[in-house]
Amino acid sequence: MKTIGVVNQKGGVGKTTTAINLAAYLAAGGRRVLLLDMDPQGNATSGLGLRGATEGLYEALGEPGRVAEWTCTTDQAGLDVLPATPDLAGAGVELAEDPDALTRLLASVKGYDLVLIDAPPSLGPLTVNVLAAADALLIPLQAEYYALEGLAGMMETVERIQGGLNPRLKVLGVALTMFDGRTNLAQEVETMVRQHFGELVFWSVIPRNVKLSEAPSFAKPINAFAPLSSGAAAYKRLAEEVMQRVEKI
Ligand code: ADP
Ligand code: MG
Repeated sequence: MKTIGVVNQKGGVGKTTTAINLAAYLAAGGRRVLLLDMDPQGNATSGLGLRGATEGLYEALGEPGRVAEWTCTTDQAGLDVLPATPDLAGAGVELAEDPDALTRLLASVKGYDLVLIDAPPSLGPLTVNVLAAADALLIPLQAEYYALEGLAGMMETVERIQGGLNPRLKVLGVALTMFDGRTNLAQEVETMVRQHFGELVFWSVIPRNVKLSEAPSFAKPINAFAPLSSGAAAYKRLAEEVMQRVEKI
């Protein structure tokens, strides 16, 4: 079992969209996938139709041995979710003293090939738990002016975690998201990011595509909502790249 954290300290860069749709395509490709919703906003949970969950990840952090009881199936074969509930917002206080809580939880998770974690938009205790527990990180990056600075800051954080809490942590890759190829800025940012980070940057670029933003309100991943859209094609390709890279870690 490999655990991939979808992490970026910025909000609105496509973490949740990437976590949901990547998880869906990895499951469609035959992997047994668990999506763990570590963001108290619960967007991954509601985006997969589990808005009504009253218990989930928060409870499982307290009693890892019972994690299967709080794990929910979805309409997608092979894709389960450990949902976020409003209680998770309060977990930050408890987890501040306990960076290994998620690591202990994952030790009790059985029966999956891949665990994907949707992280919240901060570097608070919930995200630190993700960084401590993950084998590798996928960093979604929106192609905008400050993207490189944000990414440099993220890489410094990764190095700090590698030097302490989680020496085996790797960066699986950086995925450009919400890409609008009609603008010069987006193309310039892509060029700069590829110059600086080389092969770390996935070849698959996720375009800005309205279907990707509509799918969550229908509680479906993009492969079920609009399989012929440009967004679907891009996440399918990204999932293939992710699988190739995961096999090497
Ligand atoms: P994060 O989890 O990093 O905060 P989200 O995945 O929730 O980011 O994305 C922020 C917003 O942008 C959401 O409304 C989402 O539907 C939308 N969005 C994300 N990716 C795309 C895309 N490729 N094309 C169009 N809209 C997108
Ligand atoms: Mg999110």
